[in-house]
Amino acid sequence: MGSDPECRLTCQYAVEYGAKVKSFLSRVGVPRPVGGSNEGKEFACAACGRTYRHQSSLRSHMRYECGRDRHLACQYCQYRTHQKSNLKAHVIRMHVAEYRSRKASLNTD
Ligand SMILES: [Zn+2]
Ligand SMILES: [Zn+2]
Repeated sequence: MGSDPECRLTCQYAVEYGAKVKSFLSRVGVPRPVGGSNEGKEFACAACGRTYRHQSSLRSHMRYECGRDRHLACQYCQYRTHQKSNLKAHVIRMHVAEYRSRKASLNTD
């Protein structure tokens, strides 16, 4: 009772088989269940294509960020920001020469 040789064989086989399946899955990758969860569902801005996980984030982006992006672009390079102070700091820091010469030419004119 208890030590049936056939059962031991079967159990041994199950352990070996399980290990093989595990290594096989780790090689090919375990398929993840698709659908059924809200994860990965994103809200994309129609204007610029940025994606947000929450609709409220997208709304605040469209309201406060997206519309202002276009207005606050650096005139010397591709830098963009939605904060006026950021743009001013960027221009002074990165384009101080151009900024000064433009200001000087405006003054002398
Ligand atoms: Zn946008
Ligand atoms: Zn710039």
